Amino acid sequence: MHTFELPSGIEIELKEMTGAEEELLTNQRLIRSGDAINQVLRNCLIRIGEKTEPTVSDVLELLSGDRLFTLVRLRQISLGDDVELELSCPNSACRMTNYLTVNLEELEVTPYTDQREFDFKLPGSKKTVRFGYLDGHKEKRLAGLREPNITSALLIRILDIDGKPPSKKILAEMSMRDRGELRKEMARVDAGIDTSVESECDGCGTRVRTRLEAEPAFLFPTVRL
Ligand SMILES: [Zn+2]
Repeated sequence: MHTFELPSGIEIELKEMTGAEEELLTNQRLIRSGDAINQVLRNCLIRIGEKTEPTVSDVLELLSGDRLFTLVRLRQISLGDDVELELSCPNSACRMTNYLTVNLEELEVTPYTDQREFDFKLPGSKKTVRFGYLDGHKEKRLAGLREPNITSALLIRILDIDGKPPSKKILAEMSMRDRGELRKEMARVDAGIDTSVESECDGCGTRVRTRLEAEPAFLFPTVRL
């Protein structure tokens, strides 16, 4: 059995993925709704803290940083530490395929503190925004939106603004500067595991960026989808 400590400090036990999980991860309907990952995590998490045989609801309760950390460790115990990426250059005049190997054991992990709510004074309007962390429930709501955008991603983490519930209208009227500073603050206090990959194209030097979990090689190292 494989025991890990999540960025929030909770201890988990994992078992490796089997054919059942591979089927979940290739089910397009489940992938679109975001349920594929939740069911895979439910299947492979033997224990979350004291809770044995966790349900999907327990998996959704986990903070997003804990969830991604769990997925990365699950990938490691199931398929190994090395992810061999094939990244296409975003420069349309180049389009060269770049090969890059990332060792998952070396990804930076930032632990959560005990704080779950944060106050931030917007530099422009001087209003105070209270916000929290993303968790599985909120991720699921975002995945269900027809057109997820920056506003919905901000809105879902905001608890209140000057004590009042937030709305799309308030977010739309907020100055770009305040929105930018708020996003920066949300990113600053965030925790979890850093899966961002940044490299330069071997052919033309253009910056190539991605997130590991978005790459086929993360969960399907041998199969070409
Ligand atoms: Zn290039």
